[in-house]
Amino acid sequence: MNGLWQEKKSFTAYQLMGHTWDLEERVDIMSWTDKVPLWDHHCHVLVQPKHAADLERLGRALTEARGDYPISDIRQTVTYQEAISVAASHLGTECDESSVQLALGSVDYEAYCRGLFLAAGYEKLLIDTGYQPPDAWEIGDLKSAMGLDMLPILRLETMAEQLIARFDHVEDWIMAVKNTVQTARTEGYVGVKSIIAYRSGLFVHPVEKETAQAAYRAMKAGGITRLTDADLLNYLLWSLTPTLITEGLTVQFHTGYGDPDTDLAKGNPLLLREYLERYLSEGLHVVLLHTYPFHREAGYLASVYPGVYFDVSLAVPLAASGASRVISEALELAPTTRFLFASDAHSRPESFFMGAQLWRRGIDQFLDKAVKEHHVSPSTAYKWASMICWSNCKALYSL
Ligand SMILES: [Zn+2]
Repeated sequence: MNGLWQEKKSFTAYQLMGHTWDLEERVDIMSWTDKVPLWDHHCHVLVQPKHAADLERLGRALTEARGDYPISDIRQTVTYQEAISVAASHLGTECDESSVQLALGSVDYEAYCRGLFLAAGYEKLLIDTGYQPPDAWEIGDLKSAMGLDMLPILRLETMAEQLIARFDHVEDWIMAVKNTVQTARTEGYVGVKSIIAYRSGLFVHPVEKETAQAAYRAMKAGGITRLTDADLLNYLLWSLTPTLITEGLTVQFHTGYGDPDTDLAKGNPLLLREYLERYLSEGLHVVLLHTYPFHREAGYLASVYPGVYFDVSLAVPLAASGASRVISEALELAPTTRFLFASDAHSRPESFFMGAQLWRRGIDQFLDKAVKEHHVSPSTAYKWASMICWSNCKALYSL
C-alpha cells in the first residue's frame, strides 16, 4: 500500500504547482483517508482505447451538457483544466493540451488507465450498465484490464420497457418485471437503479390499476416503446417495491442534477416523501444519487429516515472548486453511516482519478475540522473515513 500512496502524493504535489486554490485548501490538513481504499458505488465504464487521444471526448465526459454545447466553453472550466493537469502529471509531459494529446497518442493506454485507478486507490466499482458511452469498453474486458472488481447495477425502467412488447395486460408486464428482479442477484446484479426522476420526476405516488392499464393500452396502441408515462412509471415502482424489499435489493435513485433531459425542479429528493413514508418501515433501503444542489435536503432525509443513504457523486468531481464545501454541507445533518463515496465517472480514467482525489480532500477537510473543533477523536475520524470510502457500501449492498 505504501508505494501506491507515494505515487498519489506526487500527483498532489504536481497539481499544487498549477492551482492556487488547491494549495490553500491543502495547508495544515491532516489526511484521514490516505490508506483507505475506495469502493465506488455508482459509476460507468470507460470508452475504448482507440479514443485515448481524443481531448474533446475527455471534455465532454466532464460536463452534463448535450453534444451541441461548445467545447470551447467546456475547456475553460476548473474541472477540464484539472483533468489536463492529472493527465500531464501521469504522462510526465508539460501541462498543456497539445503535449497531453501527443503523449496520449503513443502511451500504453491500458497501463495508463490502470495506473490512474491504482494511484487513486480504487478497489471495487459498482457499474450502472444502463448508461453506456458510445464505443464503450466491454465490462468483462475492462475488468480484467484494470484488475478491479466490477459489479453491475440493474436499471429498472430500461429493463421494464424492454418487456412491454411481450405483454398485453399491465399486470402480466408487472409480473414479468418482478420475475426479472427476483433473478437479479443470481445474474450478478448487486442493486437496482431508478431513473424515474428523468422520466416523470421524484413525486412517486400510488396509481390505480385501471388507470395504469389504460395508460399501458394507450402506449401499446400508439406504438410507443419508450416508457415515459407518469402513471405507468409510478405504478411500476410502487408495485415493484415490495419485491425489492423481499429480495434485499437497495434502490439507487437519480436525484438532483444531470443532463438537460432531467427537469431539475422535479429532481428534489424531498419529493420522495410519500414513497419513503410508505416503504422504509418495511425495510426498503434507498440511495439518493448525486443530490446536488439538493445535497443538504438529502442530508436532512438521511438524518430523519432509517434506510436513506446518499452521495454527492457527479458534482464531485464536476463542481471541482466547490467539492470540499459540498461534502461538508452534505454532512451537516447526516450521520457518516449514511454517506457513501461515488464518482459517477464514465468514459475517461482522469474523471475517476479526479473524483477520488476531490472526495478524499473533502472528507479529509471535514474530518480535520471535526477533530480540531468538535472533539471527535482521531480514532473515530479514521473509522468514519473508512465508512464513507468503502465499508458503508459493503454493508448497504451486502457485498
Ligand atoms: Zn451515473
